[in-house]
Amino acid sequence: MPRPLAPHGTANRWRTGCGCDECYGAHLDDLFLWRRKKADLRFPAPIRNEVLRLIRQGYRPVEAARRVGIHVQTVYARSRIDPAWQGRLDGALMAGRRPDVPHGTPTGYRHFWCVCPECRAAHHKPKE
Ligand SMILES: [Zn+2]
Ligand SMILES: [Zn+2]
Repeated sequence: MPRPLAPHGTANRWRTGCGCDECYGAHLDDLFLWRRKKADLRFPAPIRNEVLRLIRQGYRPVEAARRVGIHVQTVYARSRIDPAWQGRLDGALMAGRRPDVPHGTPTGYRHFWCVCPECRAAHHKPKE
């Protein structure tokens, strides 16, 4: 007797070759959780909080990442799998940004390497 198939809407059923929407959806959820788990291992919550704390104190993300021993790309990449992360990061950037930088201008980004949301927006604005 072959083993009964897993029910539709499960990643196991997708692995047995079913491509229906429900099974494919379950597979994507599975993939997301797996990526999320991997990201959490690479960049665990206590380290995330430490990075945010440092940025709030005025460290640039690249410096904050270096201090906790991770790559700054890891800090930025997290917003792809954790939508709330970008908001927390931006909150910390706004709290810790230098008061003497002209924020929201290309100068802030180019000359002061400020990556607060306003300077990033100014930097990415298409040229007139
Ligand atoms: Zn199915
Ligand atoms: Zn800025």
